Amino acid sequence: MSVNNETSAIRLQAGRSHHREHSVPLYLTSSFVFESAEQARAVFAEEEEGNVYSRYSNPNVDELLAKMCRLEKAEAGFAFASGMGAIFASLAGLLQAGDHVLAGRAVFGSTHQLLSKVLPKWGITHSYADVADPDGWEKLITPATKVILIETPSNPGLELIDLEWLGELKRKYNLVLIVDNCFATPVLQNPVDYGADIVVHSATKYIDGQGRVLGGIAVGRQDLMAEIRFFSRHTGPAMSAFNAWVLSKSLETLQLRVEKHCDNALQLAEALEGNPALEQVRYPFLKSFPQYELAKKQMRRGGGIVSIAVKGGYEAAKRFLDNLQLVSISANLGDTRTIVTHPASTTHSKLTEAERQATGITPGLVRISVGLENVTDVIADIQQALAKV
Ligand SMILES: *Cc1c(COP(=O)(O)O)cnc(C)c1O
Repeated sequence: MSVNNETSAIRLQAGRSHHREHSVPLYLTSSFVFESAEQARAVFAEEEEGNVYSRYSNPNVDELLAKMCRLEKAEAGFAFASGMGAIFASLAGLLQAGDHVLAGRAVFGSTHQLLSKVLPKWGITHSYADVADPDGWEKLITPATKVILIETPSNPGLELIDLEWLGELKRKYNLVLIVDNCFATPVLQNPVDYGADIVVHSATKYIDGQGRVLGGIAVGRQDLMAEIRFFSRHTGPAMSAFNAWVLSKSLETLQLRVEKHCDNALQLAEALEGNPALEQVRYPFLKSFPQYELAKKQMRRGGGIVSIAVKGGYEAAKRFLDNLQLVSISANLGDTRTIVTHPASTTHSKLTEAERQATGITPGLVRISVGLENVTDVIADIQQALAKV
């Protein structure tokens, strides 16, 4: 029977064993056995479907991927040990020496390292384009450009990129569009609707949602995923069965959790607007957000991240963090527990001052990943910490 995505995230399940278990077992096995020499030959020859070895595929991993494909409206996927594994393998699997990547400037810190330090070792170059200058994107496309890579909303500035516009751009130049959909999750936004060819996730964040395991996902077009899968099977970044089992269970509550993250984040953002200790509160579904109309157009809700700019720069931001009693100081996000991060001194400290400025990472900027606690407690803690700055 055909069901809604919310139901698929709960009901899609690896085949039941003869034990008739209700919850899916953990398939902790590195390899799989064959009924006969002939079956071994046929599975290796891909004439018969089946598991061979958990670096290639595993029932827990396949279950997670089936759900992610359904949620992201994608044809095929591969699961990785971390989000960076997914991003690296997607680029390395699709590109070769001489190719060029056009990337949105506000990409995740390690993605920036990949583009600027790792891929150039194999002759793959990149340019950064700015959200504020949409005409500039086209000028950066060269005959060598193969891929556009973006995040929306971006980390930590929450800049949005118009996915409909980007989909047209990529079609005009026949490029592959890769979207890191980590912040929005498939609950709030489906890049495939706008023409994304590959969608990547750090499953470590909202997909796990409880700060336990690392994971990465790439899903998308069958033909492109075949190349990414080939690269990944033979280079070894596969997700473990255990992490896949945890993450697949987490998907059962993704919808519920993301709705609550959005409720809490909007309430916090509204409560903090106008706070005298703050220069700015950024949240996509606040009316004061510069790209509010775009947020409404392409996101179902505003997400779980609120960015604030504390008056008084780094010193003030530091005092704010140290004054917190409930909220954690950590680099993760998408957890049940509210987390604050000071990007300029931690996640984005490797960028130059100019690079940080270009992506809106000011010395006073603090990223708040709003958790699932009773939001009045979170608001109270943040307000008391700001009052003492
Ligand atoms: C965390 C993150 C990544 C990297 O994922 P890991 O699981 O930490 O490797 C990539 N992109 C975004 C937007 C992230 O937040």
